[in-house]
Amino acid sequence: MSEGDAVGATQYSFEELKALVDEANKLERKVAAHAHGTEGIKLAVKAGVSSIEHGSFLDEEGAKMMADRGTYLVPTLSAVETVEKAAKSGVLKGLRAEKALAAAAGARNALKIALANHVPIAMGTDAGVGAHGTNMHELPLMVEWGGMKPLDAITAATMGGARLLGWDKRIGSITAGKYADIVAVPTDPLADIHVLEHVSFVMKNGVVYKQP
Ligand SMILES: [Zn+2]
Repeated sequence: MSEGDAVGATQYSFEELKALVDEANKLERKVAAHAHGTEGIKLAVKAGVSSIEHGSFLDEEGAKMMADRGTYLVPTLSAVETVEKAAKSGVLKGLRAEKALAAAAGARNALKIALANHVPIAMGTDAGVGAHGTNMHELPLMVEWGGMKPLDAITAATMGGARLLGWDKRIGSITAGKYADIVAVPTDPLADIHVLEHVSFVMKNGVVYKQP
């Protein structure tokens, strides 16, 4: 979104990224890299980040590197859709609009490349670009833009996120011993993924917060 630089430009060297990841790992923290550009993605993956957020210009080589190392892709298609709409409606202008449209075109392709190369996927939205509270809109986009199967999109949003965070022993599936974090929708989301945008039941850690 910045004026005057290229959308794919790298901002950290490999050495900087490596030092950053090493220091985070000492504190048992994971590192997520916000990366659109092909080269930046590869530098971050090589340095050992746990996830690439966006990954708009991911190429075949980068996808293979991610699959080898188990680096997650968080495609953030709803953020990309938001900036694409802003570019098309004239809210974003000039170079910023051009960059938004290029990233949006790239992102559609990137998820397909990632899936073809078995890159693990987690769901995330880069919240703040789009409106908070609309995160479930990400799932239909994963299906319609990336060609993910509805069950794979749901898994990315549940076990995918849990594994990426290292919380899969506590959350991510309905399993004895895990937190009872459950949502329900009125109809079968495998038949129509859009129904996930209309959550009718919410249980958080065993407490019901919403019901039909
Ligand atoms: Zn971002």
